Amino acid sequence: MAVYRIISIGEDILREKAKEVKSVTPNIHKLLDNMAETMYDAEGIGLAAPQIGVPKRVVVVDIGDGLVELINPVIISKEGEVIDQEGCLSVPNVTGEVKRAQKVVVHALDREGVLMEYEAEDLIARAFQHEIDHLDGVLFVDVAEKIAEKN
Ligand code: ZN
Repeated sequence: MAVYRIISIGEDILREKAKEVKSVTPNIHKLLDNMAETMYDAEGIGLAAPQIGVPKRVVVVDIGDGLVELINPVIISKEGEVIDQEGCLSVPNVTGEVKRAQKVVVHALDREGVLMEYEAEDLIARAFQHEIDHLDGVLFVDVAEKIAEKN
């Protein structure tokens, strides 16, 4: 496994629409493993493949209760609204208040290529929405209502 350099805001790849994964190959497994290692190394709670320079629709999330791997994730329903603070490994030293759905249902392939359904609420729902935004070239600072520099 390997820890990748996390790409920072300003680089074009963060603004591209990532491509769907056509089939879940050993290379995708390697990508998932390296993304998880990179996320844990950076002490983040989520990472999207474009953040390590790979324009594919792959996300890892771990809010502290286990690793979730999402391939080609799609939000199929949203409920409620919560405003809370967010940060991003690609936007260092900045936080912002972002309005997100309180609850989401996400469809995604797992590492076996099986379609899974995730019902997520609160922090993990926020992490899913933030990471899925990355796959469409959207950063939290684009949708934040208040942005502050962290010292
Ligand atoms: Zn991010």
